[in-house]
Amino acid sequence: MKIAICPGSFDPVTNGHLDVIKRASKLFDKVIVVVMENIKKKNQSSFTLEERMDFINRCTKDLDNVETDSYVGLLADYAKMKEATAIVKGLRAVSDFEDEFQQALTNIKLNPDVETVFITASSEYMYLSSSVVKQVCGYGGNVSDFVPNEILRDVENRLKR
Ligand code: ADP
Repeated sequence: MKIAICPGSFDPVTNGHLDVIKRASKLFDKVIVVVMENIKKKNQSSFTLEERMDFINRCTKDLDNVETDSYVGLLADYAKMKEATAIVKGLRAVSDFEDEFQQALTNIKLNPDVETVFITASSEYMYLSSSVVKQVCGYGGNVSDFVPNEILRDVENRLKR
């Protein structure tokens, strides 16, 4: 069985993330979406790990081969523990590339059994990130095209000032 991991902070999950998760679910037997604490963004999260996992569960309930988890630690160790063969990342633009390239090389150094696979962002979501959702919603803008319907109200309740 080919297992892939989709890691991220998902603070909160966006339509761009969901698009990558759906496309990954067609390529692998099982996809584990793992919510991780980003050391660079620590203590800056708007949602707890549990809330972020719950959001992803609600948006992926129709995808039979997708499950959700959370992990604090090295992704390379998590991949080993889950016997995953791939780490799937979404690439939006050249600006994502340098950091993703560095992470991919680090992860294969730490765990030679796991390949990083990049899925290019769909054109309609190229601009979209969790930070954009926070900024737009924080100033009262409409984010209904940015986050899945299943979580829209919860996201607005937390982020609207
Ligand atoms: P962000 O905070 O930038 O939204 P995450 O750490 O939650 O990012 O992202 C997890 C993964 O999803 C990363 O590989 C990131 O490049 C990818 N990703 C984020 N937004 C999109 C998008 N709109 N389209 C495709 N991939 C995306």
